[in-house]
Amino acid sequence: MTAPARHVAVIGAGIVGASCAAWLQRKGMTVTLIERDAPGEATSFGNAGSMSPTAVTPVAMPGMLRQIPAWLTDPLGPLTVKAWYLPFALPWLIRFLAHANRDDLWRCSQALRPLLAPVFECYEPIVANAQAQGLIRREGVLYAYDSEAEFRASSPAEEVRRKLGAVLEDVSAADIQRLAPGLAPAFRWGTYGPENGYTVNPHRLTRMLAERVVTDGGRLLKAEVRSIEPRNGTVRLRLARDGQADELAADAVVVAAGVWSGPLAASLGDRVPLESQRGYHVTVANSGVRTTRIVNWVRRRVFSTPMEPGLRFAGTVEIAGLKAAPSWERADRLLQLGRQMFPDMDTSSVSRWMGHRPCLPDSLPVIGASPRAKNVFYAFGHGHIGMCSAAGTARSIAELVAGETPQIDIAPFRADRFR
Ligand SMILES: Cc1cc2nc3c(=O)[nH]c(=O)nc-3n(C[C@H](O)[C@H](O)[C@H](O)COP(=O)(O)OP(=O)(O)OC[C@H]3O[C@@H](n4cnc5c(N)ncnc54)[C@H](O)[C@@H]3O)c2cc1C
Repeated sequence: MTAPARHVAVIGAGIVGASCAAWLQRKGMTVTLIERDAPGEATSFGNAGSMSPTAVTPVAMPGMLRQIPAWLTDPLGPLTVKAWYLPFALPWLIRFLAHANRDDLWRCSQALRPLLAPVFECYEPIVANAQAQGLIRREGVLYAYDSEAEFRASSPAEEVRRKLGAVLEDVSAADIQRLAPGLAPAFRWGTYGPENGYTVNPHRLTRMLAERVVTDGGRLLKAEVRSIEPRNGTVRLRLARDGQADELAADAVVVAAGVWSGPLAASLGDRVPLESQRGYHVTVANSGVRTTRIVNWVRRRVFSTPMEPGLRFAGTVEIAGLKAAPSWERADRLLQLGRQMFPDMDTSSVSRWMGHRPCLPDSLPVIGASPRAKNVFYAFGHGHIGMCSAAGTARSIAELVAGETPQIDIAPFRADRFR
């Protein structure tokens, strides 16, 4: 067994980096959390907050290829690709769609279930330490359907989830009204997942975890990491800090820079096909809706989450890269869908947001040591499930850095699986 590393630098203070930093401290490490902006202000800011042990199925699902033309032509559809970006994204999209088959559905779900099932067990110690328990609700999730055909079509995915141990209960129209007061009566079919929960404020949760890392003796360094260089058993990071070049040495490094992790891995020679699946939210302050749990409108792939800032509608996938300005009409369409879900909602005060889901073609994250440097660890690419899987990832990373065998099988998440 290798001796535990003492000083660990974590790059990125989103939910994944902040959770890694907290778990590393639990293992006795000294932590420097490096963030170019402020903790939790990128993708971890505005997501739907779902913490779901059942979110194991991949984004590329069997039959998806047939649905894409209708999605692309539907202004309220869940997917759009910016025409000018298509030539850049095409190789990635082809790899992504190649996973839309039954074998990969099973492979992905089997790999993710052990990572997601202990979601609350893995958050609990770090969230309690940060005194942020009030930000997590374990109210279950309602998967709601406004069409019987769609409800029936979801059964292969539900079957896979159930086979892997997920608890999913079919519910009646009356149950749906009880579980989600105010939901339009058109939603007559549904499944309830009692194991699931959510955070009422992903931004505040991430910030509180990062702040607690500092209270517990860690350092939060505002800097941008430019490259990673392993050197004589340690790792040297080249930084830009206050506009000046700088360096930092650590015994080990964790790359948790979300969708921006690709160039950092590439600076070591590890090529990982990360693409942004841009997503949007609208948050309706003082909506008047009284739901206490997440409702997922499965056909439209929209989540509604009762959050501290208001009722949040989040979803949609837009392939347009990292640099294009947000297409705010995508957020406006989420509001249209939200009004269909909760027709009596007061929408006089709304805010909009866009974020970059860090996605790999097989819908699995990268977790584990770099194949090229044993003291550089990867924790990125969590796609649509970063809130669900951050704490599980963090526990595995802390175990690895401490020289222990992770409690779950992380082999499916290795970085060199794309060769
Ligand atoms: C609309 C939408 C809804 C979603 N809903 C859910 C949901 O309900 N449940 C769920 O589980 N997931 C959801 N997700 C996905 C989830 O938000 C992400 O998977 C998660 O936030 C990714 O976290 P992260 O820490 O990897 O990345 P980020 O939150 O993006 O953090 C990365 C951090 O690294 C910093 N950084 C980057 N490069 C550098 C560098 N070189 N040097 C220093 N710092 C750097 C960035 O500034 C940033 O703060 C949703 C996403 C979207 C867009």
